Amino acid sequence: MIEPLLYHSTRGAHPAVRIDEAIAAGLAPDGGLYVPEALPQLDPSAFDPHGHLADTATTLLTPFFAGSPLAAALPAICAEAFDFDAPLRALPQRPGAAVLELFHGPSAAFKDFGARFLAACFRRLQGTQPLTILVATSGDTGAAVAAAFHRQPGVSVVILYPDGRVSPRQAHQLGCFGDNVQALRVDGSFDDCQRMVKAALNDAQLQAQLPLSSANSISLGRLLPQMSYYAHAALKLWRQHHVAPHFIIPTGNLGNALACLWVREMGLPIGRIQFACNANITLPDFFAGADYTPREAVATLANAMDVGAPSNFERLHWTLPHEDELRAALQAHSVDDATIRSTIVQHARDQHELFCPHTATAMHLLDREPLDGAPWVVVATAHPAKFETVLEPLIGYAPAVPPSLLAMLERAAFAEPLMADEGALRDWLLGAGEFLGVRRRGVG
Ligand SMILES: *Cc1c(COP(=O)(O)O)cnc(C)c1O
Repeated sequence: MIEPLLYHSTRGAHPAVRIDEAIAAGLAPDGGLYVPEALPQLDPSAFDPHGHLADTATTLLTPFFAGSPLAAALPAICAEAFDFDAPLRALPQRPGAAVLELFHGPSAAFKDFGARFLAACFRRLQGTQPLTILVATSGDTGAAVAAAFHRQPGVSVVILYPDGRVSPRQAHQLGCFGDNVQALRVDGSFDDCQRMVKAALNDAQLQAQLPLSSANSISLGRLLPQMSYYAHAALKLWRQHHVAPHFIIPTGNLGNALACLWVREMGLPIGRIQFACNANITLPDFFAGADYTPREAVATLANAMDVGAPSNFERLHWTLPHEDELRAALQAHSVDDATIRSTIVQHARDQHELFCPHTATAMHLLDREPLDGAPWVVVATAHPAKFETVLEPLIGYAPAVPPSLLAMLERAAFAEPLMADEGALRDWLLGAGEFLGVRRRGVG
C-alpha cells in the first residue's frame, strides 16, 4: 500500500484530500488554494537523461499522485498533455543564455501545458453526467482550455471574456472552435467575468440543474504540470554545464513562476528565480520590502500579466512562510510599457529576434544582468504572432504566424454578447440546455 500524498487548503479550514479530489474541486471549499502536506523531494539521478518532456513530467509528478486513482494513468496523462516540445534555444548574442519556448502548443501560449494536462485528468475523473466548464479569461487561458477540451465527449466549455479588451487574434481564437465550445463576449472587464463565473460556481440551485466546474489557473491540475518544463530544462543544462541555471519568468497571477520555485524546493538544480512583472507593481513592491498590498490591475501591453492581486501569492507564502526568507529566495522587477516597446524594437533590429510583450519584460531583465557567462534561461510565454497589433507598428512588419494559429484564424469565429451581470449568465446557462448536453427530464 502506498501512502497517499494529501492536500489541504492554504487557509487550513478543511480536511485533507487526495490529488484527484483536489483537481476535481479546483478551489478548496473554504476559498483557499490546495497545497500538498509537504513538497516531495527528488534527486536529479531519478530522471532518465535521455527521456522526453513527458518522461520527465511522469518522474516529477509521480510522488504528487501517490495513492490516487489517477496514479496508474499518469504516464498516459503526461504523454497526452505533453505531445509538443518546449525547446531551449540558445541566444547567440548572449553567451550562456537560452530562451525556453513554451508557445509550441495549439493556442501558442504556455497555458496549453496546464490546460491539456487538466483535460487529460478530467477525461479519467468524469462520471456519466454531462459537465460544463466555465472559464473567465483575459486572453490566453480561454483559448488553451477551449483547445484542450474541444470535442471531448460529455464536456461543454463556456468562455467569458471582456469584449474589446483582448487582442483581435485572441478574440478570434476564443470564438473559432464551435462544437462544444461557446464564447461569450461580456460587456465589462475581466474582473466582471471572474465575478460572474464565481457566482455561477457558488450557485447551489444552478449546480443542481447543471453540474459546473472551472478550469481556473489556481487548479493544481494546471499548476503541477507547469513544473515539468522547468525540471526538464534545468536538468538538461545542469548535465551539460554542472551549474544550476537561473530563470527569468514573465509573471502575472504567479502560476508559472511558482511552478519553478516548487521545482527548486524539491531539490532540483535551479539557481536564482526572477519574476518579470509589467507596470502592476504588487510583487515588485513586496520584494523591495513593502507590505503585501493587492491593488486594482492596470492595463499594459503585456495584458495576460495585468494582475493586481496575484492569486498564487497564498501558495508562495505557504512555501516560504517567513517574509525575509521569501524576499531572499526570489526577486521581482517591474518593466513599464515604454521599456517593453524599446526591448521589442532593439532585439528585432539588432538580433532579428521577435518576442511577445510578456516575454519582452523578461528579456529586458536579462539585458540588465552583467555578461559573465552565467547560465540564464528566459521563459517565452507566448508566440509573438499572437500580439501582432503591438509588434507590427513597432517593427514595421507582421510576425510570421505558426501553422496551428493560422488554422484557427482561417476558421470563422463567433461570440454571443452578454451583459456583465450574474443573472444574465445564469439565464444564459439555463437557456442553453441543448448546447450544454442537458437532457430535460421527461414529463410522462
Ligand atoms: C498567463 C500569461 C502570463 C502570466 O502567467 P501567470 O502564471 O499568470 O503568472 C504571462 N505571459 C503570457 C503570454 C500569459 O498568457
